[in-house]
Amino acid sequence: MIDNLKNCNEIIKDSIPQISRRIILSASVTLFVPSVAIAVDRVSQKSTITKHVKTSTKQTVKSKAPAIVGRARPHVPVIILDPGHGGKDPGAVGYSGTYEKHVAYATAVELSKQLMRTGKYRVKLTRNSDKFVPLDGRVDFAQSNKANLFVSMHADALNNHSIRGASVYTLSNHASDAQSAALASVENNADRYGGANVHVASPAVQKILASLVKLETKKESVAMARNIVSSFHSRVSLLQNPKRYAAFVVLKSINIPSILVEMGFMSNRVDEEALKRAAYRSLIASSMCQAIDRYFAIGGSVTHLTG
Ligand SMILES: [Zn+2]
Repeated sequence: MIDNLKNCNEIIKDSIPQISRRIILSASVTLFVPSVAIAVDRVSQKSTITKHVKTSTKQTVKSKAPAIVGRARPHVPVIILDPGHGGKDPGAVGYSGTYEKHVAYATAVELSKQLMRTGKYRVKLTRNSDKFVPLDGRVDFAQSNKANLFVSMHADALNNHSIRGASVYTLSNHASDAQSAALASVENNADRYGGANVHVASPAVQKILASLVKLETKKESVAMARNIVSSFHSRVSLLQNPKRYAAFVVLKSINIPSILVEMGFMSNRVDEEALKRAAYRSLIASSMCQAIDRYFAIGGSVTHLTG
């Protein structure tokens, strides 16, 4: 066990580049701490002061100090937006025939524009056209882009057509209610999923890392969901108990905070009509943009060490 832990530093570098390192640091598991290089400006204070004794400290440093090179670029959070369905999979079909895949895509594009306009993020979509992307492909896309946040966007259907309003889901093996379980089951039927991989040498280490990472990711996902619900409040019609959880496959990245936003239900006439309007989709997008801003402003994944 101890030998396994000693090898962890290398393992972490190779296998879990972002959130896990921060978790490991915050958990003070010192054996896990990866090497972190801190750039220090080694200007000789003594020689500088004697040579420029008549000038101010500020001027002295300016004239004598070498140019600062190699300063790390500030980390720009990567946000992956995941418009549900696409191509041969239309998603839910609305009361008057609107396809969920089109509503999801249009809103994701709008949100992407608004996020890019802030100049604070890199934003990518899991699909840039009306094409089918398997669920594990969406998760893999977020992983390969080292995403700091994954936001899946949907507007599904329920058997009860009177139910309307937005809700935000985080991952749980146990659904918050029967309705959530049914929704996740329908979504997950899109294809099969192989599970997020943690490539480590030892099952014991894998277990420890995975539980630490999962715990932190869950905490951040819930914080993000709370932000979205709070932004929607009084602007966008909300479902009762709008913060829900279920076993959606696309939320299963163990190291990327992930949420699934149900913007409303295509099975409800009022929701469908609203989601067909660009102004309403823009309102949803701006609410989500604000929530994402708030999430990263108070820490979020922006503090991740990069690997
Ligand atoms: Zn859907």
